Amino acid sequence: MSKHTPEITAAERALILEKAAGLAEQFAAVGKDCDVANRFPVELVPLYKESGIASAAVPKRHGGLGADIGTVSAIGRELAKGDPAIALSFNMHQTMVGIFRTTPSLDEDKRAALLARIAEEDLLLCGPFSEARAGLSGLADTVAVPQPDGGWRITGKKNWSTLIEGCDLIALNATITDPDGAIPEDYHEHAERESMFIVPVGSPGVSIDKTWDTLGMRATGSQTLVLDEVFAGPDAYGGNFRQGLVGEAEWAALGFAGVYLGLAEKAYFEAREFLKKKHLGATASGQDTDVKQLGYIQHGLGRMYTSIVVTARVLQQTAQTAIDGADDPWPASMRKANWDIAKVNATETAISVTDGALRLVGGASFRRGNVLERLFRDARAGLLHSFGTDQLYDHVGKAEFGLLG
Ligand SMILES: Cc1cc2nc3c(=O)[nH]c(=O)nc-3n(C[C@H](O)[C@H](O)[C@H](O)COP(=O)(O)OP(=O)(O)OC[C@H]3O[C@@H](n4cnc5c(N)ncnc54)[C@H](O)[C@@H]3O)c2cc1C
Repeated sequence: MSKHTPEITAAERALILEKAAGLAEQFAAVGKDCDVANRFPVELVPLYKESGIASAAVPKRHGGLGADIGTVSAIGRELAKGDPAIALSFNMHQTMVGIFRTTPSLDEDKRAALLARIAEEDLLLCGPFSEARAGLSGLADTVAVPQPDGGWRITGKKNWSTLIEGCDLIALNATITDPDGAIPEDYHEHAERESMFIVPVGSPGVSIDKTWDTLGMRATGSQTLVLDEVFAGPDAYGGNFRQGLVGEAEWAALGFAGVYLGLAEKAYFEAREFLKKKHLGATASGQDTDVKQLGYIQHGLGRMYTSIVVTARVLQQTAQTAIDGADDPWPASMRKANWDIAKVNATETAISVTDGALRLVGGASFRRGNVLERLFRDARAGLLHSFGTDQLYDHVGKAEFGLLG
């Protein structure tokens, strides 16, 4: 038994993926409008909850389906075939549930209570950690100031708060200060004090600043969360932040990978269907040239297809690595990077497939409102999720030279 041993049965898995495919149709129906209006579709939250997907990854003993990491990733992939931005937003909940399932930072009573509430009440979690100054890699500037009567008051801003408009609970990181509000200057002490807190989205002092206006992934609604002396009692404390995440990085990596694989598949499908029907009229090669008869179009389509198949196999095998516990020998310094290889592979596939789709389809896909134009923009966000592509290559290169501390 590893912490990733699946509890979900084959029949339950098939049913939840069928639900995801149905929900994907609802995502597809509003995806274009949400991109144009730059809004997260809050009206889909009840449908997401009704589908049973919200509690899929909660272990059976706490009332969920016990879906394994491969199933959770497959759900994200399926939903992204409907609309990847909306799927990415809901994926944040899955990532947080996965992390809380086993992170040693959370004590067992709190874990049980949190996961049981998620299953019973279909609560959605978001995970806004990144801050304006240094993304996710810098320690939290957000502070948790200890209160004389116990608990903390949290103040700060999180400017990448995906799902903030649809969630019930916010899991965030903040640095526990000295009683006078001072943050330790020493890096290691700061890191030790950087902690996880889980607070209800309706807490006094929580507000949303609507700053989200981006190139792509516009329907995620990743607005800025503003925390103004938000009270967090002892029950809201979720342990050390970074130590808590290091051992659970696979949930972020494989969830994101599923969404970007689904994005690539959607782009591939749209491009193929367009190219099947496209005629060029009279050209030097014939009276009504059929685009699919052109060699470089065939080659380009085959290349897109092949990269999608490779990415799907890498993702499946990486999930299996987790399930088999075959990651046990990985050194701590390489754990996140090793999982993120599957994520970066998927995000780079999404980028290359959407690029290929625009090249093959040509002018029609360059027009605003064309689905491929949107997917091309959405795919670019894949460069940024931690480890971003270049951060991963940098980390792995350092490791290969024996330069990691
Ligand atoms: C659609 C979308 C949704 C998101 N949702 C969330 C969310 O819900 N929660 C959340 O916490 N975050 C979220 N993020 C943020 C994401 O995880 C990153 O933290 C963020 O994109 C980084 O922003 P940045 O480039 O400004 O970061 P920075 O980290 O400031 O990076 C700037 C530059 O510095 C480099 N760099 C960064 N750190 C290092 C380092 N340690 N060593 C060397 N170079 C470094 C980077 O490669 C980059 O070139 C989301 C991002 C996107 C695109």
